[in-house]
Amino acid sequence: MLGFDQIRDQQQPIRLLTAFIRKDRLPHALVFAGIDGVGKRSAATALALHLNCEALQIRGNVSAEGPGSGPAEAPPTACRNCRPCRWILAGNHPDVIRIDPVGKLIRIDQIRRLLDSLAKKPYGQGRRIVLIADAHCMNPEAGNALLKMLEEPPANTILILTTNQTSDLLPTIVSRCQRIRFQPLPSDTIRSLLITQEGLAHQDADVVARMAGGSYTRAVSLFRQGWIARRNWIIREISTPPAAVARLALAEQLANLKEHLPDALECILNYYRDVLVWRYHPRQITNRDLQPEIVQAADNMRAGALIDRIRATQEALRYLKANANPRLTMETLLLQLDAA
Ligand SMILES: [Zn+2]
Repeated sequence: MLGFDQIRDQQQPIRLLTAFIRKDRLPHALVFAGIDGVGKRSAATALALHLNCEALQIRGNVSAEGPGSGPAEAPPTACRNCRPCRWILAGNHPDVIRIDPVGKLIRIDQIRRLLDSLAKKPYGQGRRIVLIADAHCMNPEAGNALLKMLEEPPANTILILTTNQTSDLLPTIVSRCQRIRFQPLPSDTIRSLLITQEGLAHQDADVVARMAGGSYTRAVSLFRQGWIARRNWIIREISTPPAAVARLALAEQLANLKEHLPDALECILNYYRDVLVWRYHPRQITNRDLQPEIVQAADNMRAGALIDRIRATQEALRYLKANANPRLTMETLLLQLDAA
């Protein structure tokens, strides 16, 4: 939540943003696309700081000298100490407006209120920043209302939409925005952030960083929800020789995880992938802390059976995404895993 210098492993987006700032060519609308937890909102905050910091305005450095002069990287950093900086960091600067989904939707009345407030004069001397987080949650009415704003952009205002992928937004909106793509974070980066920012033990940080699929916030929430213990339980259960009754009970327990059920299937998928990968690339396994279990399973399972299990788990994930009955899907999956 600080300056551009604090955002990890997003060289390309930061290079683009700082180049726009240096040339004083910031587009009036940007889409930050990428999975959750990779720095999109932090980049929006960094931009707001940069465009509103009083120290930078006094030094006349906001637009710098223009192309061809000075080093290509790192524009001057916001002071984080003046009043606008402190307000932005505390989340209460009147010219930095943030809209979040309510429930799972951003509704038209939220966009109308935004347009009303943009019709008023800005509070400070800097530039107004509007962040619409998870912009794919706008319903069509809200999207169309926002489109009007994009067609006649208010002066001195920069609109930033964040989303997982631009294909989830109205094409008419995307075509009016500069697109900036954020990449998933390497697991080593997540691991070191978990240790320094969250104080996790090295081994725990290693496990959740590898489970998180490139998202720092997902890593933090997996840890807080106790997923290391849950993963251990799931892997122990699917590795024990089956008894039909126990299998039905396990299917029910898994189905009861509800919205966390896909995470459980990802655990199963990662485990079988590890067992398969172990023979060829032992350094690439995800569940490094379970190495003894993985070695033992690799000795006992044929590659063909592992591939069948991986396919069955992927198929179950697809069915769940298509709203299949969780309990039936789990019963079918467990039967297929045992039969493979
Ligand atoms: Zn400042």
